Parts: sequence; structure tokens; C-alpha cells
Amino acid sequence: MNEMSLPRPNNLDSFWMPYSDNRYFKANPRLLARAEGMSYFTPEGREVLDGTAGLWCCNAGHGRREIVEAIQKQAAIMDFAPTFQLGHPIAFEAAARVAEMTPAGIDRVFFTNSGSESADTALKIALAYQKARGQSQRVRLIGRERGYHGVGFGGMSVGGIGGNRKQFGAMLPYVDHLPHTHDPARNAFTKGMPEHGAELANKLEDLVALHGDTIAAVMVEPVAGSTGVLVPPKGYLQRLRELCDKHGILLIYDEVITGFGRLGTDFGAERLGVAPDIMTMAKGLTNAAVPMGAVATTNEVYETVVEGSPAGIELFHGYTYSGHPLASAAAIATLALHREEDLPGRARAIEPYWEEAAHSLRSAPGVVDIRNFGLIAGIELAPREGKPGARAMDVFRRCFDEGVLIRVTGDIVALSPPLIVEKPHVDRMMGTLADAIHAIA
Ligand code: PMP
Repeated sequence: MNEMSLPRPNNLDSFWMPYSDNRYFKANPRLLARAEGMSYFTPEGREVLDGTAGLWCCNAGHGRREIVEAIQKQAAIMDFAPTFQLGHPIAFEAAARVAEMTPAGIDRVFFTNSGSESADTALKIALAYQKARGQSQRVRLIGRERGYHGVGFGGMSVGGIGGNRKQFGAMLPYVDHLPHTHDPARNAFTKGMPEHGAELANKLEDLVALHGDTIAAVMVEPVAGSTGVLVPPKGYLQRLRELCDKHGILLIYDEVITGFGRLGTDFGAERLGVAPDIMTMAKGLTNAAVPMGAVATTNEVYETVVEGSPAGIELFHGYTYSGHPLASAAAIATLALHREEDLPGRARAIEPYWEEAAHSLRSAPGVVDIRNFGLIAGIELAPREGKPGARAMDVFRRCFDEGVLIRVTGDIVALSPPLIVEKPHVDRMMGTLADAIHAIA
């Protein structure tokens, strides 16, 4: 072992790895053992540049001292205390910091531990809200094809990725999906928001015509991430907002990826100019140093559910770890860094360079589309005949071995670096990716 090397695990068998090809991995393990700034390091000390901010989450870069110290300090002060019928100061402070960042009027914050829990929490709050305002017939939830809202039964049902559902039998009833917004015939290789497709939001009118006043909420990712980066067409979210308002339907944004600076603003809602009624978040909230998610709602939603209920528990929902002290400490430190270092501003400043670098891959063999917005890029490859996803997976492995971490979903390469990324990092990411695409072709 050299100075920076770390032990490899002796036993790879026991950990049933999530969303993984366990058999392949265990025969060909690729391990990450340490992280700092823009980089991971393998157990042997080899650097791997982080092109994905972990999993779209380490927005401030890795190993941030301020966050580490806040967690250590809180662990010594108080490891855990319940937030059911009790409170601890740091959870309230964390909620207030989040509320300062969310759009005006979205000031109430419910804590969870993940994006999946946030999705299910948001859907439950929407249903509770409709019931509390005397609209208990509104039980229908609308998602969007290719949407990803995590892996709980709510998020999985409202999400629109068929592959995530196929092993698990019945989903939630009363769920419909709007069409996705991917339209390569009209929008291929668009930089930023596509021109075409705002009218796809009108499908909500058809669902209202079909289901009347039984729709509780519509849930979408402002920019769909996990499906392979789908940027909303210009005017699309405005139209969705108008239709929701017209028909008494809540609009929920899943901001698990788009929150905390990823689009160059605190939340995607700000960049896109359309605010939801409820928004979910996770990932960047704590820079992923401790798991934490949250759901923020308008005051109206909160007041309707909480102040409109008789004395006693108003929302029969919560997690043992809602507002966990270590996660709260990590969130406060992360959001302070976010402000002090103006991470959204940094993302905005480098976005034009990022966009050009991503689109420079257009001439690489087999690239059929490139999409980008904020510090996100999706590079879509033509699938290998008979083997969807195989080409991109080969590109992923090759990039890793060449020292750059990318993410692939189907045959789409998704990039989302920490927001502290600089031009030489961008050059290295895109250069290594281009070489890998050429080599695999
Ligand atoms: N929503 C969105 C938009 C996400 O991207 C993700 C995770 N990629 C989730 C929800 C689920 O988050 P988690 O994995 O923390 O449950």
C-alpha cells in the first residue's frame, strides 16, 4: 500500500448492491475509497475525476471541512432525539435555512431521509391537503412518462420508468401519466431549453376531461434527470402551472436533482420562472454527507392541513429520523457554504463553457443527441444492436478506468459535476468521454 492507499474489502459477497449488476461488479469490482474536492480515489490511490457529483449530490465538492466539522460537533452534542411531539433546536434552524432558499411563500419544511421518501411524503401531503379543503374526491395523482421519483410505491407509481416497476406487481391505483417531453425529431442537439413541446402540457386538460375533479396533484421533475436529461420545452411548465391553477390541482416539483444550485439558481423553480405548490429535495441539501431529504410546501398547503385540522396530530406521517441532528447540522453547514461560495453563481458562470464542451461531442461516433441545462448534460448514444444500454455501459467502464466518473442510464451518458468544477476539469471530462466513445465504437 502506498501512502494514500486504503484497504480493499475482503468480502464482496454480503452487500447486495442497489441498482447494480451484482454479478458483474463482484467479478470486476471498481471501488472508491476516498474523496476530496473534485475527485475520488480508488483504494490504490488512483484519482477518478467526479463528473457526476457522486449521484448528482455532492454539489460543493467532496470532503468539505466545514461540513465534516459540523457533523462531528453535533455528534458530540447530541446524537439523536425524536421529533415526534418533541423538538431539537438544530432541526428548526435547518428548516429555516431551507425556507430562506425556496421560492417566496414556500416556507414550510418537512424532513425525510431521501429523495424517495420526499416523493412519497409530497404525494401524501397533496392528498391530505385536498381532503382537508373538502375535496376528498381528489385522489388521483398524475406523473409523467420517464419521470423518476425514487423507489417507494408512491414515487415508483407516479414515476414513469417502466423498468423500475416491472418486478413489483400492482402499483398505486388512480395514477396517470402525461407524455414525456423528449422529441428528437424537433429538438435534437438543442442547447438549453427546447423550442418545441409546450403543448405537451395540454394533455392535462384531456385527463381533467376524463376524470373531472378527482385529480389531486401533478408531479414532475423540472428537468428530468435519471431518465437521461430531458430539459422542459420553453413555455411547458408555465402551461402546466396555468392548468393546475385552473383545475384546482397541486403542482409538485421533484427538485431532488435540480435543487441547490444545479441549474445556476437555488432551485430549478427560480431558473425556470414557475413555482410549484410543493417541492421535494434531497441530495445537495447536505452535500450528501449525511442522508437527508425534505419537502417544502406553500404556507397555504401547510395552513390548510395543519391549522384546518382539529387539535391533535394533523398529518399521520413521519420518519424516526425526520430532522436528524447530524443531517440537520450537515444541511446548515452545506447551505452556509452554498451562500458563502455562491455555488449557483459559479454554476451560472461556467455554464456557457460547459454547454460548448458538451456539444463538442456531437461529431463523436454514434452520438444521436446532446441535451444540457445548468450544470447537467446528457449525451445520447445509438444503442448497440439487440443490446440496449450495453454501449453506454462500456463507455462508463472505460471512462472510470481512464480516470473520469460518468453516469449512464440506458444509452445516455449523464454528467453533473460538483458546482466547483473548473474549465480544465470540464476539458478532462469531455476529452476522456470523447476518447471512450471513439474507442468503444
Ligand atoms: N427524485 C429524483 C428526481 C431523483 O433524481 C432521485 C434520485 N436520483 C430520487 C427522487 C430518489 O432519491 P433517493 O435515491 O435519495 O431516494
